[in-house]
Amino acid sequence: MSIKPARTRIAPSPTGHMHLGTARVALYDYLLAKKTGGQFILRIEDTDISRTVPGAEQEIMDGLRWLGLTYDEGPDVGGAYGPYRQTDRREIYRTHVNTLVNSGHAYPCFCTPERLESVRQEQQKRKENPHYDGTCRALAPDEAALRVANGEKYIIRFKMPREGATIAHDHLRGDIKTENSQLNDYVLLKTDGLPTYHLAAIVDDHEMGITHVLRGSEWLGTFPLHVNIVRAFGWDEPTWIHLSVFLKPSGKGKMSKREAAAAIKDGYSIFIKDMQDLGFTPEGVLNWSALMGWGVAEDDVMTVEQMVERFTIDSLTPSPAAINFQKLDHFNATHIRLFTTEDLAARLKPYFTREGLNVNDEVLLKMIPLIRERLVTLDDCLAFGGFFFKDEVTPVPEDLVAKGLDAKQSADIARRAYQILAAQPTVSHESCEPPMRAYVEESGLNANQVFGILRVATTGQKVSPPLFESMEIIGKQKCLQRIHNAIEILEKM
Ligand code: GLU
Repeated sequence: MSIKPARTRIAPSPTGHMHLGTARVALYDYLLAKKTGGQFILRIEDTDISRTVPGAEQEIMDGLRWLGLTYDEGPDVGGAYGPYRQTDRREIYRTHVNTLVNSGHAYPCFCTPERLESVRQEQQKRKENPHYDGTCRALAPDEAALRVANGEKYIIRFKMPREGATIAHDHLRGDIKTENSQLNDYVLLKTDGLPTYHLAAIVDDHEMGITHVLRGSEWLGTFPLHVNIVRAFGWDEPTWIHLSVFLKPSGKGKMSKREAAAAIKDGYSIFIKDMQDLGFTPEGVLNWSALMGWGVAEDDVMTVEQMVERFTIDSLTPSPAAINFQKLDHFNATHIRLFTTEDLAARLKPYFTREGLNVNDEVLLKMIPLIRERLVTLDDCLAFGGFFFKDEVTPVPEDLVAKGLDAKQSADIARRAYQILAAQPTVSHESCEPPMRAYVEESGLNANQVFGILRVATTGQKVSPPLFESMEIIGKQKCLQRIHNAIEILEKM
């Protein structure tokens, strides 16, 4: 059986930072498009101008590119179905809304905000759900047209069927039945002439040939409205897929804005830009988020190519998933181990330069095998390997004093180590470890005491990658200089 190429879209509103939820929907959209040989589209839904945040659109485009979810059509890349930014499509919506008015599926409403507010308050008193009371729905079309022609301010509302029920079909959730008496005459076109999300998204999905609409379950409430709009136009419905929501790590409820912002204190975030800054990799983030809503084994490590191989919409699941940042760490660390050394070098370099370190590419390639296994996030490279790119290190004096010894004894050890190392042609693992171990033996000290001093002296820190391998990369001259500095520090204590 041949599969029909899917056209999918991610349709974010540029109202804030790009969120993990957007990334996950975009991933599934991308997988479905690639799997079927179709297209993945970026559409910017910016018709709620009061909520538009400057820079947010760019952040979405940058975020998708960083994740590697390259879109085939979009505001900055064009395409045959553009424009891809809704505020650039006003005329299209106007034409379509007129079609609905002319066919009796929509009507102008002249009610003032004050009147609507008093209706709302009355309904509240009667403990009714807020809904439009239908005053302008009852107007004769001629009269309404005349008032429009006279320049009266109006909006356009959808004329929701009042009898019967709407059955909307979600691919994951089956048929969802809603009594039409529960539905409202939603606004399609606002006083500023711009469409609401409801109209714009339906029109665009049709005009852009979207075959599968994947989106968050927060849209289930207005799903019957959307289905009714599509049917009023007489269009074919796309396959609708409402994905699960993310729950906070405890599994109890959705993450609040405050909790989302607070996560960063622990080195985590649900915003894509932050994740990048915190040292997460696109591979780690995608693998992690893919499994929150896709019924494959929880610990499956996959590249995007492997995901494309395995993806089907039938394996998506509607059950909510709790955000588990430890799993994100796991997937990130796992993918870091899979990168080639050259690839990892290119990814780590910005984290060093961001701290003002001067990265020597040769040193970078040499040190990666020593630190790779220790990295959970890319920025961990600073803690484990920043000293490779420093001219000098500044050890904490107390750290130079070996356990059970005083500063003077530690200085003596450092002096002896200096002599031993200075006598070697190079400081390498092979040349230095045997004489240093011999010294440990004859001195009656333990290896931790001697190597601890050497480690803090040469790397400036108590925890480092393997000592002699690190010293080899630092180089003889710098190592001796650093040990010399350490002796001076110890002598002053
Ligand atoms: N603009 C909507 C949002 O940002 C898109 C929902 C949809 O995909 O239809 O949530």
